[in-house]
Amino acid sequence: MKLVNINKSYGSFQASKDISFKVPQGSLTALLGPSGSGKTTILRMIAGLEQPDSGDIIIGGKRVNDVPASQRGIGFVFQNYALFRYMTVFDNVAFGLKVQKKDKKYIRFRVMETLDLVGLSGLEKRYPSQLSGGQRQRIGIARALALEPRFVVCDEPVSALDVSIQSQILNLLSDLQKERKLTYLFISHDLSVVRHISNRVSVMFLGKLCEIGPTEDIYSAPKHPYTKFLLSSVPNPDPTKRKQDAELLMGEMPSPMNPPSGCRFRTRCPYADKLCAEKEPEEKIVDASGRKVYCHHPLS
Ligand code: ADP
Ligand code: MG
Repeated sequence: MKLVNINKSYGSFQASKDISFKVPQGSLTALLGPSGSGKTTILRMIAGLEQPDSGDIIIGGKRVNDVPASQRGIGFVFQNYALFRYMTVFDNVAFGLKVQKKDKKYIRFRVMETLDLVGLSGLEKRYPSQLSGGQRQRIGIARALALEPRFVVCDEPVSALDVSIQSQILNLLSDLQKERKLTYLFISHDLSVVRHISNRVSVMFLGKLCEIGPTEDIYSAPKHPYTKFLLSSVPNPDPTKRKQDAELLMGEMPSPMNPPSGCRFRTRCPYADKLCAEKEPEEKIVDASGRKVYCHHPLS
């Protein structure tokens, strides 16, 4: 999956600005950034629930901007399950297959197989209200996987769940990804989880990209000042380090309606200078892994 120069505005408000990145086949890429930075908008455009104003969405080498959501081969796992309450578990998981007019026998086989895969065999006659939050999210996952998607987008798939079952669901998603060689684009606010399960990270701030690269490289040495700030919010056991990190971020969160000129992070950035106010940073490749940073003064 590849995004090329995606732009999307709501009225005068630019929710995505020149977004280009690749999600390699078989990888789990995490999308990070503060609330309102445009992460959900990106997933919705990829899934076909929203149209970009310009730019290309490429899946399997083909531009899919004009392909309807149901024909893009994408599985979508939402934060709040979005199950049909009046349908049984079976009918929830079968829904997309019925839309695709698969034959009855195939649907039955596929639904039962997928329920087994997510650990819910035997619950097919129940209604969502008769299940726990964790079970409901498994149904949401089963519904996405029943269609054998080539690409799965997950929007904070566990943030509505009790902490005690979050890791179960994340491990399930991660195991399924490895077993089925799925490709994921994944939004989560849990930075430790992202480090644990993702291969690649894309960091956004106010509708723009900050940094993209392999997860371990970025976690061990962030090169964009916002990434460094974001990752420093993972509690640091060393109290002296914690203080330095806390000093990094200055000022108020800028208004998304009226973003700063030049670099959108510059009003909060301790390294910002005149150039940052005057010019939007372009993409820079900063190391041999192909890591990209959008900053005039990347950290060393
Ligand atoms: P995130 O998922 O990173 O929190 P979103 O993609 O949901 O961010 O939203 C990015 C910005 O776009 C937000 O400021 C949000 O208010 C705005 N936005 C999202 N969808 C719409 C819409 N349909 N109409 C107007 N503004 C929207
Ligand atoms: Mg969101």
